[in-house]
Amino acid sequence: MGDLFALKDVLFPDAVGMVLDRLVEPDGVVVAEARSAVPELTCPDCATVSRRVHSRYGRRLTEYPVGGRKVVVKLEVRRFFCDTPECGRRTFVEQVEGLTTRYARAGPGVKAL
Ligand SMILES: [Zn+2]
Repeated sequence: MGDLFALKDVLFPDAVGMVLDRLVEPDGVVVAEARSAVPELTCPDCATVSRRVHSRYGRRLTEYPVGGRKVVVKLEVRRFFCDTPECGRRTFVEQVEGLTTRYARAGPGVKAL
């Protein structure tokens, strides 16, 4: 499958700052490895901007039919530090706008954070 940019638009039409890294097809199912390229995020509690990444982990999102094929989206999600001493929150997990929220609404297959 060739054009990652075209497929990105098919898979994530609403996702802001998404990058589709590669496509693999281990068992007849297309796996799209994606991540957010947004360099900084704001703490949901105190709204301070953070660029300090605490950790990364993979989320496997619901299988998604594209042109008659099943596509599984593996999304790399980052956890950021909040460095504001007054803020009760030490870390927070990024939400990819238009993607994690959208897949969360899609129902089974997505674990809530
Ligand atoms: Zn905070």
